[in-house]
Amino acid sequence: MVRNLGDIERIGVVGAGTMGSGIAQVAAQNGYDVVMRDIEEEFVQNGFDAIEDSLGRFVSKDKISEEEAEATTERITGTTELSDLADCDFVVEAAVENMEIKQDLFEDLDEEVPEDVVLATNTSTLSITTIASATEREEQIVGLHFMNPVPVMKGVEVVVGEKTDAEVTDLAHALAEDLGKETWESDDKPGFVTNRILMPWINEGIRAYDEGVASKEDIDKGMKLGTNVPMGPLELADHIGLDICLDASETLFEELGDRYKPAYLLKRKVDAGDLGKKTGKGFYEY
Ligand code: NAD
Repeated sequence: MVRNLGDIERIGVVGAGTMGSGIAQVAAQNGYDVVMRDIEEEFVQNGFDAIEDSLGRFVSKDKISEEEAEATTERITGTTELSDLADCDFVVEAAVENMEIKQDLFEDLDEEVPEDVVLATNTSTLSITTIASATEREEQIVGLHFMNPVPVMKGVEVVVGEKTDAEVTDLAHALAEDLGKETWESDDKPGFVTNRILMPWINEGIRAYDEGVASKEDIDKGMKLGTNVPMGPLELADHIGLDICLDASETLFEELGDRYKPAYLLKRKVDAGDLGKKTGKGFYEY
C-alpha cells in the first residue's frame, strides 16, 4: 500500500536545476509544501532565484497576484541534506541525467524516506526499471517526466517500469493532474514517447545545418512555418541544453542503434562548452 493523493501534503524534489526548481514551483503553487534538495547551497539558491524569476513573470502578466507568488516561495524549503526528505509524502527526483548518480540517489532515498512513499524520477531517457533496481521498493518507482519549462508546459509523461504497480501509476497521473497538468503514459522503452521521436528530429536539424542544406534561421523557420511547431530544431536544442540533448541522444544510440547516432556538430558544440541558452551561446547567441 502506498500513500494516496489525499495523504500527500509535502513533496520532496531532488535537484534544484532547470527542472527541479520548476517542479518545486508548480507543486508549491498548487498548495503543497515542498522540500527542494541540491548538493550545494549555491545550487539551492540558484533554484530559488529561478523560481522567483518565473513567479515574477507570472505576476507581471497578471496571471497570479503578488500574494500568491509570496505564498508559493514560503511553501518551499531548501536543503542540502537528503535526510530532510524523511517527512515527505511523495518524492520527485530531477538530478543530472546519469544512471550511476540516479541509482546512488535512489538507494539513499530508499533508506531515508518512509516505505509507503512513491519515488518518481523525471529522467528524459534512462530506464525506470534500472533506476528502480537500486531500491527495495521497485514497484513504487515510476517516471514522472515533466516538460521544460515546467510552470508553462501542460504535459507530463507517466512512465511505467517493469515492476511499477498499477496503483503507483494511477497516483502519478492523479498527482500530475492535481498540479494542473495533462498526462499520457509510456512503457519504459528508451526515450519513452517524447524523446524517442524528438531527438532524431533535433539531430536531423543539426545535420541539415552542418551539411549546408540551409542557414540555421531558415531550418528553424522552415520547420516552424512548414509544420506548425512553436520552435525549430536548433532553437529548441538551445532551449533544452545541448549537453542534455547529447546525453539523451547517446542513450538512444546505445539502446536502439545507428538511426539514433548523435550529430557530429552537437558533440563538437558540447565539447566547446556552448550548451545553448544556459551558457549564452549554442547555435544562437543569447
Ligand atoms: P540541471 O543540470 O539544470 O539540474 C540538475 C541539478 O541536479 C543540478 O543543480 C545539480 O547540482 C543537481 N544534482 C546533481 N547531483 C545531485 C544529487 N546527488 N542530489 C541532488 N541534486 C543533485 O538539469 P535539468 O535540466 O534540471 O535536468 C534534470 C533531470 O530532468 C534530468 O534527468 C533530465 O534528463 C530531466 N529532464 C530535463 C529536461 C530539460 O529540458 N532540461 C526536460 C525533461 C526532463
